[in-house]
Amino acid sequence: MPELSHRVRDIVPSGKTGWEIHFAALTRKQAGEELLMLTAGDHDFPTPAATVAACEQALREGHHHYTQLEGIPALRRAMARVSAQCTGVETVADQILATGGGQGALYAAVQAVCDAGDHGVVVGPYYATYPGTFNAAGASYTVVDALPENGFEPDVRAIGAALQANTRAILINTPNNPTGAVYSHRTIEQLCELCCERDLWLISDEVYWTHTAGTPHVSPRALPGMAERTLVVNSMSKSHGMTGWRVGWLTGPQCIVAPLIGLNLVSTYGLNDFVSHAAAEALDNDWGVAEIAATYDERRGAFLEAIAGAEGMEVRGSQGGMYVVLDVRAISADGNALAWDVLEREKLAVMPGESFGEATAGHIRISLCSPVEVLQEAAYRLKRYVSAQLAAA
Ligand code: PMP
Repeated sequence: MPELSHRVRDIVPSGKTGWEIHFAALTRKQAGEELLMLTAGDHDFPTPAATVAACEQALREGHHHYTQLEGIPALRRAMARVSAQCTGVETVADQILATGGGQGALYAAVQAVCDAGDHGVVVGPYYATYPGTFNAAGASYTVVDALPENGFEPDVRAIGAALQANTRAILINTPNNPTGAVYSHRTIEQLCELCCERDLWLISDEVYWTHTAGTPHVSPRALPGMAERTLVVNSMSKSHGMTGWRVGWLTGPQCIVAPLIGLNLVSTYGLNDFVSHAAAEALDNDWGVAEIAATYDERRGAFLEAIAGAEGMEVRGSQGGMYVVLDVRAISADGNALAWDVLEREKLAVMPGESFGEATAGHIRISLCSPVEVLQEAAYRLKRYVSAQLAAA
């Protein structure tokens, strides 16, 4: 048999996705076992009814065809309006590339700024696809971890120290997955100064921008000198309850977006027609956005209250996004082993922090994609587990 390309072989070289617990629990649950699953970051509720109705109508109206490669005009206009809200910078449709989800935008951003052999800095803890996204461009990367002791706030001096002669970009994500950390204005300012000084791209993943528990979102794109070097990743998955619709977008200077239309030409050949029409309407009307953000704020508050004061566990980060991270190093340095043990003893599936980089080793991530009662029950089981471990020690 002819050989597979190195590029594809190297996207996930270990073959480990970090989702092993999630899929093991899912298989057991589907076989009838009663398990609480707080692993995946996917909503437990459907897409808002108005968006579904708009999609049905678009289907009936005959939107069954190929679309503009960069996104249909109405969708790009709607995305530009939301980008202006998200980043605080006036945005026009020509600065928008519609993509298959936020992941498509991440892929496009890294492809746009890295040649094979180039280097990027990924600020950790990070969303699990980031390393593979650099690998897919043939680029190398260095992870610079934000530390639990600092509430997962990045250390910009450490990021500066990791830059190499061939570094092209820094990739950040705030509000953060997995930690829920919302980076401070000062940190973002320092990062932007670094990018300007060293003439770097900043890829800013802002897919959780509506999940900030009431604090205004700060986008680096709004800071001096940054609009020309910031590529913002957005998505309808989290903000609009549309994970399965696969609609996201990249915002950046027009001179970057125009050549990226070629990437859509050879990868997706554009988004789905009827989905694009429904997505444009959902963006124009903000369908579900306030309700979804309020739901996660309430859940975060309820879980944090239920876990408060628990011995042996420390809440880190967890100011925004859709997750809470617990430091369980008082029980085990190995979050992976602990998560498997919690699954066995408490019938509760959570993500090991190790799936998101070394800074969250000895931590677990709790997804808030379940009703308050389930989150309270999960907090109870975690507390019971930790008490039993401490008693046995
Ligand atoms: N960035 C972050 C930080 C995420 O958590 C996710 C999804 N979990 C994505 C990007 C990609 O989202 P999607 O492709 O569903 O839009």
